[in-house]
Amino acid sequence: MSKIIRVNLTKKEVKLEDVSKEYDGLGGRGFTSAVVAAEVNPLCHPLGEENKLVIAPGLLGGTNCPNSGRVSFGAKSPLTGGIKESNVGGTLGVRLAKLQIAGIIIEGKAKDGESYVLLVNKDGATLKPSNELKNELVYNAVEKLRAKYGEKVAIACIGPAGEAKMAAANISVTDIDGVPTRQAGRGGLGAVMGSKGIKAIVVDGTDAPGVNIKDKDSFNKAAKVFADTLKKDSISGEGLPLYGTAILINILNEAGALPTKNFSSGRFEEANNISGETMREIILKRKGNPTHPCSPGCIIDCSNVYKLEDGTEITGGFEYESIWALGANCGIGDLDIVARLNRLCDDIGLDTIEMGDTIGVAMEAGIISFGDGEGAINLLKEAEKGSPLGKIVGSGCTCLGKVYGIERVPQVKGQGMPAYDPRATKGTGVTYATSPMGADHTAGYVIAMEIAGCGGKVDPLDPKGKADLSKAFQVATAATDCTGLCLFVAFATLTNERANPAVVDMLNAMYGLKLTGDDVTKLGKKVLQTERDFNKRVGFTKAHDRLPLFMTKEKLPPHNTVFDVSNEDLDSVHED
Ligand code: SF4
Repeated sequence: MSKIIRVNLTKKEVKLEDVSKEYDGLGGRGFTSAVVAAEVNPLCHPLGEENKLVIAPGLLGGTNCPNSGRVSFGAKSPLTGGIKESNVGGTLGVRLAKLQIAGIIIEGKAKDGESYVLLVNKDGATLKPSNELKNELVYNAVEKLRAKYGEKVAIACIGPAGEAKMAAANISVTDIDGVPTRQAGRGGLGAVMGSKGIKAIVVDGTDAPGVNIKDKDSFNKAAKVFADTLKKDSISGEGLPLYGTAILINILNEAGALPTKNFSSGRFEEANNISGETMREIILKRKGNPTHPCSPGCIIDCSNVYKLEDGTEITGGFEYESIWALGANCGIGDLDIVARLNRLCDDIGLDTIEMGDTIGVAMEAGIISFGDGEGAINLLKEAEKGSPLGKIVGSGCTCLGKVYGIERVPQVKGQGMPAYDPRATKGTGVTYATSPMGADHTAGYVIAMEIAGCGGKVDPLDPKGKADLSKAFQVATAATDCTGLCLFVAFATLTNERANPAVVDMLNAMYGLKLTGDDVTKLGKKVLQTERDFNKRVGFTKAHDRLPLFMTKEKLPPHNTVFDVSNEDLDSVHED
């Protein structure tokens, strides 16, 4: 029987609750968004006592369904001011699911200066004072926690940025090697965790009861079919394992949609130096690992371990978004410098996408020049120190743009844009504009069709039909985010007609249900509706579902296009 762990930091109280009817049958983003919408005052301060940080494994978490180990974090976001969900791989989701924990709800607020570790195990949860970890970098903190609680624990940890409540702070999660390479990056949820006084959540899965599956044979049969579709797909079965997500650098550059030097061009002259192909060569030469699963049960293996020339393991999970953000968007074409920036972000506990956008805006403001890698490193070190400039950097691109009077800030609802210029990938632009999450490619990954051509190729430059396409992707993604499945299963689910039914079959076999594909679509719509409703209560209107004006006026080379999806089309995404 699944339980909810409710932790109140004001009262220093930890309770184990049955899952109420309201939250029963929900997982991942469905769970986090339902709790935030029902229990958080939309008008509260995101860093105040009334906000709650909610953590939930997916509905298929802890099973042998491939790539189902993601865990969702949700809260009112300090970056967007709206509802937020950010999901991540690693081992945390699987451990929680196997302990039969449907969710953790962290509420209240510790006194200033107090710091705690939440220890979760088969007996429940306890709060442990952790003043010795205060302001510790994430990698050091995780090493100390593993030494104390054992090598096999799963850990979610924040860095100095989260403790200082910076709005771009992330939450790091340990991968299968116990290294904190996985990041719940978006929306500043690390600042919410810091505001509660929680430095880390440690999950010890020893003697976990495991998940209950009503019909194991049917489940295993469907899991096998699903695995087969992932393996047979050319992207999830070949491209991603070989080059990681950084395979997209050359592809997006070729498509003229790789945002370069603060979104001023869609092509970066040094793209090949930071491409997946170059990265693989370097990793092999330095005896790193180019193909690595971040999470138990992952069979796509898009992660990696990257070493510097002297053999130092500098970073893992070196992904397209981070390489683009800290590379092309800042005009930096040296992969080793990008890797050092990535490690700094992970250690300080800052979202790499938001930092790439912020450093890009800082370069536009003339604080440092485009291409200045050492200058970028110094900016992040300011954030680590918590200097006034560092606090501005750690608060994200919208804040830095305001402070320095910069008009060209690539953001929606206060959150920096990911690695696809919306003027050259217009369906993705619709997702950035209209997602309740702010600019977030994972909220509706239209790139799969616009660039990869999965499920049919569409012209990324044509505004027609893009609102409908984004809507379909947003609904499908919201449903997928409830299951714990990794986004990268989408390449197979879009192209192989056996993949989606296999997911529905697994849900039915696990919970003894008779869901159809339509029911899963309805679930996605319901999640989005819940999130939109919360944002409306915050005060968001249609005017917030727009891209920055400069993107509708300033032509993006090399295609020289602007973002020209009409406001009527944008508004149609959430009608009905
Ligand atoms: S495909 Fe990549 S991101 Fe997804 S679970 Fe596997 S390693 Fe992690």
